[in-house]
Amino acid sequence: MIKHHPTDDLLIAFSAGELSSSLSVVISTHIEMCPVCRHQVERYTAQMSDESLNQQPEVIDFAANSDDIGTDANFDEMLSGIIAEPESNFAETFKSTPSKVIGDGFELPKSLSRLNVSNFVNVGKISRARIELDEEPVRTSLLNIKAGGEVPHHTHKGFEITLLLQGKFEDELGGYVPGDFIILDAEHTHHPVSKEGCWCLTVVNDSIQFTKGVNRLLNPLGKFIY
Ligand SMILES: [Zn+2]
Repeated sequence: MIKHHPTDDLLIAFSAGELSSSLSVVISTHIEMCPVCRHQVERYTAQMSDESLNQQPEVIDFAANSDDIGTDANFDEMLSGIIAEPESNFAETFKSTPSKVIGDGFELPKSLSRLNVSNFVNVGKISRARIELDEEPVRTSLLNIKAGGEVPHHTHKGFEITLLLQGKFEDELGGYVPGDFIILDAEHTHHPVSKEGCWCLTVVNDSIQFTKGVNRLLNPLGKFIY
């Protein structure tokens, strides 16, 4: 089950159409994978188009303590309720979008399939392609870590968003499943490792800095990977 979700602030800004292209792309890919956040965005969108336009949308704070989300029995009940609802506009849109396969046969989420993707650059077990959104210095990328691959210990000068699309990886903070949405900032260092390999969508607004010993020699590679 997905444990890590965007904050409500991000979902509200997304619903209001206030996010930059890169953030919109990563949030819409998450809501393609996550029925809970899709439901939230639909509620916000409906509330915003209501007459009560000037009022704050009602906030149901699923994400504030998202690590607890899977332990609440009510959550399961709510989730079944959401899944049982009729197909949403978003779900219909995703269904009617043609799929696109890249790399060695990876099927892109529908929310990415209409975007231009650059060629892949390979560094060891990591391949990276840019999603061409033209938002420098913000960079949006597809990252493929092959089985047994890892990204050395690093921190970020700005923020780094990782949305796991397929496979699994883990870092100091735990393991992740497809759909998990992880935001890290300059306070965090981490060291993602993928035993079975994975595909991620990443958004960063500055270079990453490798932090440990000989890894520092890799710093010029930081821009390549992310
Ligand atoms: Zn979610």
